[in-house]
Amino acid sequence: MSNYQYSNMILIIGGAGYIGAHINKQLSINGYETIVFDNLSYGYESFVKWGIFEYGDLGNINDIRKIFQKYPITAVMQFAAFTYVGESIKDPQKYYINNVCNTLNLIKVMLEFNVKTLVFSSTCATYGNPMEIPITETHPQNPISPYGHGKLMVETILSDYSKAYNLKYVSLRYFNAAGADPDCEIGELHNPETHLIPLILDAAIGKRDNIKIFGTDYKTPDGTCIRDYIHVTDLADAHLKALQYLENGGESDNFNLGNGNGFSVLEVIEKSREVTGEEIVAVEEKKRQGDPPILVGSSNKARNILKWKPNYEDLQEIIVTAWNWHKKNMNLSKNMIIMAYI
Ligand code: UDP
Repeated sequence: MSNYQYSNMILIIGGAGYIGAHINKQLSINGYETIVFDNLSYGYESFVKWGIFEYGDLGNINDIRKIFQKYPITAVMQFAAFTYVGESIKDPQKYYINNVCNTLNLIKVMLEFNVKTLVFSSTCATYGNPMEIPITETHPQNPISPYGHGKLMVETILSDYSKAYNLKYVSLRYFNAAGADPDCEIGELHNPETHLIPLILDAAIGKRDNIKIFGTDYKTPDGTCIRDYIHVTDLADAHLKALQYLENGGESDNFNLGNGNGFSVLEVIEKSREVTGEEIVAVEEKKRQGDPPILVGSSNKARNILKWKPNYEDLQEIIVTAWNWHKKNMNLSKNMIIMAYI
């Protein structure tokens, strides 16, 4: 067994990625000792600025066992997943193996080591096309992509395991994670980038010529899709509260995490123009496959039970933090290029 100096450590799987890194920061500044386990397929070692970094892959069960042998882990947070909905339709096997089978490996090892507290990163994509807005946790779950199906499968597995093995879990169904650490230490950096706000900011900074608007004839007030953008630091705070809820004996459960306000693609572009002071050329494009017109969540359950509430309800504040990070990151990339020539 471990002889590590701490007696209570949180394992963050996928903690080198956008969301996991913000959770790592939030847990660390709130006194938790963390271990980030990541295969760096989409994450960045430079994002692991707190706790311990351990390279490893959930596909290799012995990689996982080694971590549990080495450290006194009391709880796990699972962020390691592929997240490109379109890709999941083209290559479902990639998604089911990584997002479902590999999560099962993780939970198998947790049970072997008698670690029974898990916070799982789920998604509003488990609901599929919404039948009513705002979406609550009791809304039917009919995913329309292998990505959404895989996340729902894990939710179902967690529910069965909690009954059979007394696993205690919280699944957090995110709406659109956005923004960056207000201290600009970490932020959103995907490769390839497909998300609306970073793409708009790429256009603002001149890295792209324009932003493409996927569909302008949706049944929404301005014809463009409406989404619920939740600041990543608010997400991080919800994970901290979910962990504390489980530590205090809370029952296994699922919670939506959104900020409850919907913004259209055009509104996001217009607000980004205001924040950046740049023109930002927008070009109309055809609809993207599988995009529901409106996705807005009710997070009342998380507010009531986890005692959580978003601090960044205003789109402007979300975009300001994203823009600050985007400019800094752009400068970092430029400096790296300059260094390469020296
Ligand atoms: N979107 C867009 N242009 C882009 C990227 C996204 O119009 O280049 C739209 C997309 O159709 C959706 C919204 O912006 O309505 C948010 O998309 P994103 O990919 O950021 O998140 P998703 O809602 O797919 O999780």
